[in-house]
Amino acid sequence: MPAVLRVALPVPLPTLFDYLPPEAGQASVGSRVLVPFGKSTAVGVVVATEVETSVGQARLKRALRVLDDAALLDAELMATLAWAAEYWLGAPGEAYANALPLALREDRALPDTREEMWELTQAGRSALDASSRRGRSRALLETLAAGPLSADVLHEALPGWRDAARRLAEAGLIARVDARLATHTPSTVAPALSAEQQQAVSTIGAALGRFQPFLLDGVTGSGKTEVYLALMEQVIAQGKQALLLVPEIGLAPQTVRRLRERLGVSVQVLHSNLAEGDRARAWLRARTGEAKLILGTRSAVFTPLPHAGLIVVDEEHDSAYKQQEGFRYHARDLALLRARALNVPVVLGSATPSLESLANVKAGRYQSLHLRARPGAVRPPQVQIVDMRAQRLEHGLSPALLAAVADTVARGEQALVFRNRRGYAPVLLCHACGWHAECPRCEHPLTLHAGRRQLICHHCDYSSRVPEQCPSCQAPQLKPQGQGTERLEEALAARFTDVPVLRIDRETTRRRDAFEQLLEGLHEERPAILVGTQMLAKGHDLPNLTLVAIVGVDEGLHSVDFRASERLAQLVVQVAGRAGRASKPGRVLLQTHHPDHPLLRQLLAQGYAAAASSLLDERRSIELPPYGHQVLLRADAHQREHVDAFLADANAALAGAPLQIAGPMPAPMPLRAGRHRGQLLIEATSRSALHAVLRPWHQALWRLPSARRVRWSLDVDPIDL
Ligand code: ADP
Ligand code: ZN
Ligand code: ZN
Repeated sequence: MPAVLRVALPVPLPTLFDYLPPEAGQASVGSRVLVPFGKSTAVGVVVATEVETSVGQARLKRALRVLDDAALLDAELMATLAWAAEYWLGAPGEAYANALPLALREDRALPDTREEMWELTQAGRSALDASSRRGRSRALLETLAAGPLSADVLHEALPGWRDAARRLAEAGLIARVDARLATHTPSTVAPALSAEQQQAVSTIGAALGRFQPFLLDGVTGSGKTEVYLALMEQVIAQGKQALLLVPEIGLAPQTVRRLRERLGVSVQVLHSNLAEGDRARAWLRARTGEAKLILGTRSAVFTPLPHAGLIVVDEEHDSAYKQQEGFRYHARDLALLRARALNVPVVLGSATPSLESLANVKAGRYQSLHLRARPGAVRPPQVQIVDMRAQRLEHGLSPALLAAVADTVARGEQALVFRNRRGYAPVLLCHACGWHAECPRCEHPLTLHAGRRQLICHHCDYSSRVPEQCPSCQAPQLKPQGQGTERLEEALAARFTDVPVLRIDRETTRRRDAFEQLLEGLHEERPAILVGTQMLAKGHDLPNLTLVAIVGVDEGLHSVDFRASERLAQLVVQVAGRAGRASKPGRVLLQTHHPDHPLLRQLLAQGYAAAASSLLDERRSIELPPYGHQVLLRADAHQREHVDAFLADANAALAGAPLQIAGPMPAPMPLRAGRHRGQLLIEATSRSALHAVLRPWHQALWRLPSARRVRWSLDVDPIDL
C-alpha cells in the first residue's frame, strides 16, 4: 500500500485529512506534521500511516514537514482520543487539539523542559541596595536575594512576576539558570491517619498496578486529601506518576504547596490560566515521565502518563469537568477510560457524589469507601431550616438569620451568608407601570449592579447605564427586586458597622489572586461576615467560620432541569460543610419559603446519601440518566426560521429510529445574545442503540443544506438541558 498519512487537524469538521508523506523525515502515528491547509498551513497529528485513501493519489497534497521524530502522543493517548472523539461525537481534530497545549499546536521547536530557575546577577546584587526600582521588580529582586528560585515557586510567591523578570533580565540584573526538576525535602509530615483513612489507603493501595475505580465518599474536612497524599507517596516511591484533577484552579496554589511540602517533589500544574509556555513545559515533563505529580483542571485529563500509577478526580460531582463547547467531553469519564487503559486505580472523591457515580457503585462497577468523621471537628454542623413565610425580611434576610449572624460575630467568630447570585438585584422594576429592565439581545431581565451603576445581562454581558427614570412611563421610582450578593453586602455592612463585611464573587475577585488575598486575613481569630456565591462553597479552611446562612435557594426547587435537585442538594451540603471545620462547632441555617419540601426535609433529616438515593430511584422510574441516555442537538441562528428548518430536517433524518425524541423545541432560553435557539433531545435506554443511530445521523447532519444557516452542536450526555 502506498504510504499516505491520515492527519487530525484542529478544525471543527467531522473528518480527518489525507496527505502524502513529506519528502524528508519519518512520520509515525502520534507525531505532529506541518501540512498545507487551504491558503495557509496547519499543524496536525498523524492518526494513521499507510492508509487507503478515497482521494486520488494525484490530488493529494504533500505534508511539508514532520515536527516530531518520535510520537508526541503515545499509543494509549491516541487510542483514548480516537475513542473519545467517537463517543462524544466530536470533530476528531478538535479532540486531538484539546489534548495538546496551544504552544504544542504551533510550528515551533518544543520548549526546553529543564526547570526554569532565576538568580540575581552580580549587577543585580549591587542594584539591590542602590536600585530605584519599585513594585514587582523590587519585590522580585528582594525575593531572589536569598538564592535562586524556580519559576514554580515564584508563581506562588509573587503573582505577575514574569513581566518583572523580563524587565530585570533585559537590564542584566537577573539571569535564568536551568536545572533538573528539583526535589525538595518534605517540610511537613503526615498526620497519623484515622482508622477510616487507613482503611481507604490500604484498600486503594492494594489495587495499585491494576484498573479499579473507587468512590471516596467523605464530607468536607474528612481528610480525603490526606488519603490522596498517602497514596501519591506510595506511587512516587515506586517511581510512578500520579495525576490529580481538580474542578477549578482557584485553590491550586494552596494545593500545590501542600503537595510539594508533603511529598517533596515538584508539582507540575496544568490549567488554562497558565502562560502557554509553562503549560506546554508541564505537559512535556509529564510525557518524559520526569514529572511525578501533575495537578490540573479538566483538560489535564489528557496529560501523557507513560509511568502512570494513580489518577484522582477530586470533587468528582463538579460540573466544571464537563466541557460545554467545542469538543464536549467529560473529564471524569475520560479519567475512568484512561485508568482502564493504563491499568491503574482511579479515585473519585466527593462529599456529594454525582448520581452517576452512586449508580456505578450500586451496579458494582465502583468500589465505595467512606470517611464519616471529620478529624478536626467536634461534631458535624447542625442544620436548621428558617421558614421565611410571613416574616418581616430586611433585604431578603429574616430576623432569625440576622440574630444568628449577630451572635456569631459577638462571639468573635465568622459568618458566611451564601447567595448564588452576583450583582445588587436580579430585576429592576417600575412600580408605576410594571416595566422592567430587560436585555434586548436575550429578552431576559438585566441584573442591577449598583456600584458600577450598570445593568448587566448575565447571559451575554450586554450592559447599559441605569436609567434615571422609567423609560416607559417616566416615573422616577425604579425599584430593585430581589437580592444579589452586592445588596446583601450593603445590608449587612449597614447593620454590622464594626465588623468587616467581605464580598466574594466573580466581581470582587476579578484580579488574579484577589480570592486568595481576600481570604488571607480570615485565618485569624477575628470576627467577620462573608457574603459570597458558589466560589465560597469549597476550599480554604476557615477555622473561625462557625455560621453558614444559605439564602435564595428556592429557585433550585422548581427548576425544569431534572438535575436541579441533585445540584441543589450538593450545593447545600458543600456550603454547609464550610461551617465549623476546626475545633469550634458549626451551625447552618437554610432560609426558604418551602420548609416542607421533601428534598430539603430528607436532606436535613437523613443527609445527602439518603436524598441522593431517593433522587436515583426517581431517575430510574422515569428512565432519566444515569438509567437512560441522552443526546442533545442544539442549534441557534439570527433567524428563528433557520433554526426551525434545520431541526425539522434533523428530526426527519431520524425517522424510524428506535429512540425517544423530544422536540424540536425552543431552548430553555429561546433567545440569547440576539440568536434564536432551539433543540432536539434524543433519549434511549440502551447506550449502544443510541450510538449506533447517532453516528450515521451525525454525518448526515453535516450534509444538510439547512445546517449551513445555523450554528449547531451535538452534546452526548449533556448536563444541562
Ligand atoms: P478533605 O480533602 O476531605 O476536605 P483534608 O484532607 O483537607 O479533607 O483534611 C481537612 C483538615 O483535616 C486538614 O487540615 C487536614 O490536615 C486535617 N486532617 C486530615 N486528616 C487528619 C488526621 N488523620 N489527623 C489530623 N488531622 C487531619
Ligand atoms: Zn414605568
Ligand atoms: Zn443578554
